[in-house]
Amino acid sequence: MSDLRELYQEVILDHNRSPRNFGPLEGADLRADGHNPLCGDRLSVALKVEDGLVTDVRFEGSGCAISKASASLMTERIKGQTIDEARALFDRFHRLLTDQTAPTDDAALGKLAVFAGVRDYPARVKCAVLAWHTLRAAVDDNHELVSTE
Ligand code: ZN
Repeated sequence: MSDLRELYQEVILDHNRSPRNFGPLEGADLRADGHNPLCGDRLSVALKVEDGLVTDVRFEGSGCAISKASASLMTERIKGQTIDEARALFDRFHRLLTDQTAPTDDAALGKLAVFAGVRDYPARVKCAVLAWHTLRAAVDDNHELVSTE
């Protein structure tokens, strides 16, 4: 677990300092806005989709290091995936963070598995899942503001 925690801190710091796929996405097909009132994180996620495949995804907004790093890793991971694969990843990621019995070495999650460290800090779980809830709203074409509350 201590190795995982170190890796977790390293990954969060790196993606917070230089978030990937950050900024507006011209000509997005889908988008949604999310808010985590508990922490004050606000994110929007925008996607370009062709034949069910996510060809581009970007995020904007401001929030704590965990929410930003999670959004950054999420965009990196789902680019090039199908919408169905993105939904399946949402389920796996959500389970990793909310189910203490979920394996922390789920190979399907790859680098996202470092967020298992957040399980030990229940107040931060909402920060880590905000981008994913927002992504799901975007692919569901749901235009209501997503709230983690
Ligand atoms: Zn936060």
